[in-house]
Amino acid sequence: MIQKQPLYSVRMRASLEGRHISGAERIVSRDRIDEVSSQLRNRALSRLTEPDRIVLTIESLAGRRISEVPALAVTTCSLQDVGLARVQAARILEQAGVDPGVVRSAIDLLDRGAAPRGTVMRGAVIMTAHTGKRLEPDQERGVRVSRVDWSQESSIPADRKLAAAGLGHYRTKEALALATKISRAPGVIAELCWSDDPGYTAGYVASRSQGYVRFPMLKRRGSPMGGRVFFVREADFDIHECIDYLERAPVLISGISGITHEHIDHP
Ligand code: AMP
Repeated sequence: MIQKQPLYSVRMRASLEGRHISGAERIVSRDRIDEVSSQLRNRALSRLTEPDRIVLTIESLAGRRISEVPALAVTTCSLQDVGLARVQAARILEQAGVDPGVVRSAIDLLDRGAAPRGTVMRGAVIMTAHTGKRLEPDQERGVRVSRVDWSQESSIPADRKLAAAGLGHYRTKEALALATKISRAPGVIAELCWSDDPGYTAGYVASRSQGYVRFPMLKRRGSPMGGRVFFVREADFDIHECIDYLERAPVLISGISGITHEHIDHP
């Protein structure tokens, strides 16, 4: 869809001595650029580790085709044990078509740090679903999904619905937007994610058909390891087309599709 009022992509990247600390981004109308820029700057400055460099990019999306898509349906899974949650997450990824051995190696990879020196990557791993081959061109940086946000009309209702379901943390809203865009990338069949923030244990698996399945404990508290793995089909996969969509195609999320809770004791 072509917007009547031009929209802008506002992106923040903060680092210390060249090391990435935080990043965030929005897609907003011209009159909100100031407000959103200062929100993103404050967010960079409120991290425990203070950055020595904050880069703010403001880019016009005038004339660009902007897709509007509904958010993936959200399911929250009650399993509170990391081991059991991972068994259930693995099962969902297998149902999406990822080989069980590949799921195991992806979980191990995020646990030990997917960047070459065993550190956390800035972006995501792209992994083939049957052979577990890594395809991202730079294993330090990974692929950074960008140019995605909630539409102006959907943002506040989404806040309300997520908060009413006990999912009011800003991270959930941002992750749901990212996962929704990722699920529509050409060739991507599923995603695995948990945060590298030692204090944030939640994670999710997501796919276009199964939606966004959130686990409150997908890693142990205190672990600084986290990341994202995008599983892709092997046949006819065009890495350039996929990365181009993930990094550059502007996508607005038009609203929440549904939120359900799944109470299970065992996977
Ligand atoms: P976070 O949930 O922000 O803690 O991110 C968890 C991990 O996901 C990070 O360590 C990165 O490896 C990866 N990541 C974060 N943001 C993005 C993004 N925009 N695109 C791709 N990967 C990301």
